[in-house]
Amino acid sequence: MTTTAATAEYDVVVGGGSVGGLSFAIGAASRGLRVLVLEEDAEIGEPEKCDGLVSLRAMRRYIPPEETCIQSRVTSGVIHSPSGLVASLDASRFEVVVMDRSAYEKQLASRAVSAGAVLKTGVRVEGTAEEEGRMKVRAGSSYTCAYYVDATGPAGILKRNRARLMPAAKYEIEGDWFSDGEVQVFIDQKRYPGFFAWVIPRGNGIAKVGAAGFGVNSFKTLDSFLAGKAFKILTKVAAPIYVGGQVEEFFSGRTILVGESAGQVKPTTAGGILSSVAGGAMAARWVAESIERSDPLLLRNYQRDWSEEFGNEFKVMRRLRHLFESLSNSDVDKIVSALGSKRVSERLSTTDFDFHATAFLSALGVKGTLQLASVLFSAEARQVLSSLA
Ligand SMILES: Cc1cc2nc3c(=O)[nH]c(=O)nc-3n(C[C@H](O)[C@H](O)[C@H](O)COP(=O)(O)OP(=O)(O)OC[C@H]3O[C@@H](n4cnc5c(N)ncnc54)[C@H](O)[C@@H]3O)c2cc1C
Repeated sequence: MTTTAATAEYDVVVGGGSVGGLSFAIGAASRGLRVLVLEEDAEIGEPEKCDGLVSLRAMRRYIPPEETCIQSRVTSGVIHSPSGLVASLDASRFEVVVMDRSAYEKQLASRAVSAGAVLKTGVRVEGTAEEEGRMKVRAGSSYTCAYYVDATGPAGILKRNRARLMPAAKYEIEGDWFSDGEVQVFIDQKRYPGFFAWVIPRGNGIAKVGAAGFGVNSFKTLDSFLAGKAFKILTKVAAPIYVGGQVEEFFSGRTILVGESAGQVKPTTAGGILSSVAGGAMAARWVAESIERSDPLLLRNYQRDWSEEFGNEFKVMRRLRHLFESLSNSDVDKIVSALGSKRVSERLSTTDFDFHATAFLSALGVKGTLQLASVLFSAEARQVLSSLA
């Protein structure tokens, strides 16, 4: 596919060279589009902000990580309630792995370049404007293109739904109080309002530990979670996480949103690798078709395809998040206790990691969901859970 130099240097310029932007670049360059990716960091994948927990089964549908990107395999999940109740889940059938996220991004970057995309690091997109049916992208130099893809992650969603971003802090630590293969989540609405603290072992006595919550000082919160435990910090990162769900429109004029910029991140756990890689791949298909057939309306199919795959689950996740944010610590104790029952945990262990919201409700069953709703303290929580049943 070609563009004349007088009208556009590229078919598409992508702002952000991470999972969403690079997945887009692979798909678009493989279809013959001239693609430029601009990444503000000096090196792709650095610093590593994300913990890299993904379902390998689901990633195989898009761009799976190479074996060298996999740090460990998850065999169980443990949820701790505020008062110390515990629900354990056998995760061995989920095929969930901990990825070296930096290595995965480098894998994507190398595939994008092999497919013909141009990648520039250390270049920040400063602004864009639509002029006479073309996009102008300012990033040190000025670039002209048919479409601009905003894959800038938290920076992109900040402009659209700032209220649903929360501060998070993450350390990689050495320690001996966690077990390989066992991911742990600690819920406490007073210490981590609307979220949790987590421990994700990545093998060899190293774990990724983090904490997030609305309105918290993330490093202070993480330090207080780790207080009394023996550990040595290897790396430290602060990065916001987003829990607001997908935005209403994935494109406007000649700007297309991909990944976290489009809110393609689970509203429950803020996991966004799979849904962002999927978003990039789907957007690439329809941008290519739209350019080839000179029909911008074909872009609508990008949102349709993404919604067909993730829309229902994200809807349930948003409602569960609404429920979660209305729970008191005593409510959380009751839910963890229900999840810990043999029947529910057995059912949950045969479901799907990426579609856990619907799995949670189906594991409880209508009767179980209503029973649980009846014992919750918060009236709002009772109402939301009953409506979901
Ligand atoms: C602490 C933490 C842990 C997480 N753990 C997991 C997990 O275990 N599993 C999971 O699935 N998800 C996890 N996530 C979420 C996941 O990282 C994101 O959903 C995912 O990275 C979104 O991908 P993206 O490509 O849309 O954006 P990002 O990965 O955020 O990438 C955006 C890119 O754009 C660049 N950029 C920003 N502004 C500009 C600009 N103006 N010009 C040029 N470049 C720019 C940035 O430098 C960055 O490289 C985690 C997030 C955090 C913060």
